[in-house]
Amino acid sequence: MKINPVRGTHDLFGEEIRKFNKIVSEVKNVAQKFGFNELVTPIFESSELFEKPLGEQSDVVLKEMYTFNDRNEDKITLRPEYTTPMIRAAISNGLLNILPAKFFGTGQMFRRERPQKGRYRQFNQINFENFGSDDFFADIEIICLANTLLKKLIPDSNITLYINSLGTRKNLSDYKKLLSKFFNDNKKSLSKANIDKINTNPLRILDSKNVEEKEIIKKSPKLIELISKTDLNIYEEIKNCLTELQIPIIEDLHLVRGLDYYCHTVFEFKTNELGSQDTLIGGGRYDGLIKTLGGKDIPGVGWAGGIERIMLLMNKILQKEKDIHIAILDPSHKIHAIKIYDFLIKNNFSIYWNYKYNLKKSLSLANEKKANYIILIGENEKINNNFTIKNLSNGEQVSLEIDNILDYLK
Ligand code: AMP
Repeated sequence: MKINPVRGTHDLFGEEIRKFNKIVSEVKNVAQKFGFNELVTPIFESSELFEKPLGEQSDVVLKEMYTFNDRNEDKITLRPEYTTPMIRAAISNGLLNILPAKFFGTGQMFRRERPQKGRYRQFNQINFENFGSDDFFADIEIICLANTLLKKLIPDSNITLYINSLGTRKNLSDYKKLLSKFFNDNKKSLSKANIDKINTNPLRILDSKNVEEKEIIKKSPKLIELISKTDLNIYEEIKNCLTELQIPIIEDLHLVRGLDYYCHTVFEFKTNELGSQDTLIGGGRYDGLIKTLGGKDIPGVGWAGGIERIMLLMNKILQKEKDIHIAILDPSHKIHAIKIYDFLIKNNFSIYWNYKYNLKKSLSLANEKKANYIILIGENEKINNNFTIKNLSNGEQVSLEIDNILDYLK
């Protein structure tokens, strides 16, 4: 019986898992520098955590969630995103008493999308969230953090930061009405799928890649026209700060993001090296979301990045070769061998043995793997209670008692 992986899922091994681990470890480094604490949440949550906050008309909620009824009829969803679970966890555990509260996490997300390069049904996200500050410095900080991480992981990639402001949630809801009216008036140039979105989710029509529709979209109202002067000034200051930080930006007045909870600053880090799945990191402000989920009325700002998409842009990471091989020449020497095996591991060396009692094979494997040393354990070593160490780069060979080995290897 051969069982294939489920469509849109993949296994990680070899080069891929080395890249994955490097990303996670760099995320932890950067998080520590910027003062974010790790928050790990369950892979599944009550469905209501996602349904309303992400937008009942959003693609994620309408088509992509893995939702099922538990045996006692509780409605459960495999998390499709990380912001709402982080907020739920911060509220459930009383983590919002001292503000701002800054958290990060990495983990699997699930969306039933059409799989292609850079788009999977199970994928891994990095999430950074800052709860409780409406100072625009929080927006700058979290964008700067994303930029720092990408520069560390993929310094040679061509990445651009796109930015926009959505204004208040009221501005956004007024804008949706304006858009619905505009697209209703221009219905004849829209596809059937987009006509269906006119009254339910007109923002999504702005994502169209169709050339004719793009022409109409160019003429559609711009959200920026509804935003107050005070909010526009803040937005200008954010752009100035990013320029000061030498993070190049492109303003995209139609950038609205796919999930419903955003307001004010929204941004995306995109690459031109991955085809259509070109967004590496996306995020923004979500003032009001924490209150909607039963918490205090405090603002928030954050982003999510796709680990698999970053992996596609990373350079090769070579496997670290084993430092020391051992060659046990006869099964009866195993008890003597285990002493050196245990000793070296306790002293932070990495050890390899091929379980073959054959000097020739062990030697040739150690050379092939470019080990630094091979330790030979035969009859003489057992009788003399010592170990023979061969330096594979110069061929030098010495026999030493265990207490003298560390000095020799240093
Ligand atoms: P979102 O939560 O939709 O804002 O997505 C944030 C980031 O997660 C995107 O910019 C991608 O890098 C990544 N991402 C989203 N959906 C997928 C997917 N289906 N497969 C792989 N990565 C994804």
